[in-house]
Amino acid sequence: MMGATHRSLRRDQDKSITTESFCISCEISPKRIHATLLSCATMQERMNAANSDKAGQIIDAGPFGQWLTQARAALRGNGGMAVPCGECVGCCTSGYSILLRPHDVALDVVPVKFLSTAPGLAYPHAKMNPLENGHCPMFQQGRCAIYAHRPQTCLDYDCRVFAAAGIQTGDSRPVINQRIRQWRFSYESEHDQRAHEAVKAAASFMTTQASLFPSGWLPNNPSGIAVLAVKVYQLFLDGSEPLETDADVARSLMNAARAFDAMLLSSPTP
Ligand code: SF4
Repeated sequence: MMGATHRSLRRDQDKSITTESFCISCEISPKRIHATLLSCATMQERMNAANSDKAGQIIDAGPFGQWLTQARAALRGNGGMAVPCGECVGCCTSGYSILLRPHDVALDVVPVKFLSTAPGLAYPHAKMNPLENGHCPMFQQGRCAIYAHRPQTCLDYDCRVFAAAGIQTGDSRPVINQRIRQWRFSYESEHDQRAHEAVKAAASFMTTQASLFPSGWLPNNPSGIAVLAVKVYQLFLDGSEPLETDADVARSLMNAARAFDAMLLSSPTP
């Protein structure tokens, strides 16, 4: 099976199949996602349940300070997060390509016909493309058919990162965008509230001042921007020493991102 997978990927590579970014991979590492997927009988029930959420309905995203601490730890590969997905299956039905890392591919639970070459990554990385209706091919009869062995990318997905950064995930994903609008963080302290404003300010800066960054340095998708904002938010906290120019801010932001990524997995998370 693994040999067949490899050959299939090589064929795709030879044909220069168009690749696309892995928007779902926000690199946060919760240990579970949509744990209730198995409990619902049909996809239609799930979609109806998700769609019945009124646009103005508020969904508790939890205390922001706790979320931020856990998210930053998870980004360093240290711990995970429980995402209160409820009935939402937005990330399984919104046209995402799913990156499969080597340990996912080794599990051999995704049929080869759904796999193709992962852009910029050598085999045994692979990607699983969505079906024409935008559903993940493993989303079957209203649930994940490989839930116990779902890819790390799926385990990593936490759409609260968009709410944290104050951005949406693109017009083509209305279900997820609705969920983002519904999330509401709570605040246990004034500092937590300021931290949230700082994350949003970081995302806004990267969006509005993209020309100040070297070509290709900024992520080209909303999830990448949101994750980066979580990494560098401290630069935008009220009371931080003001930088003279936007170019200085951009330089400091890049340095902060590099410093975050350079931290050891086991380091404490401020
Ligand atoms: S593999 Fe499972 S959890 Fe991941 S997107 Fe597909 S259906 Fe959803």
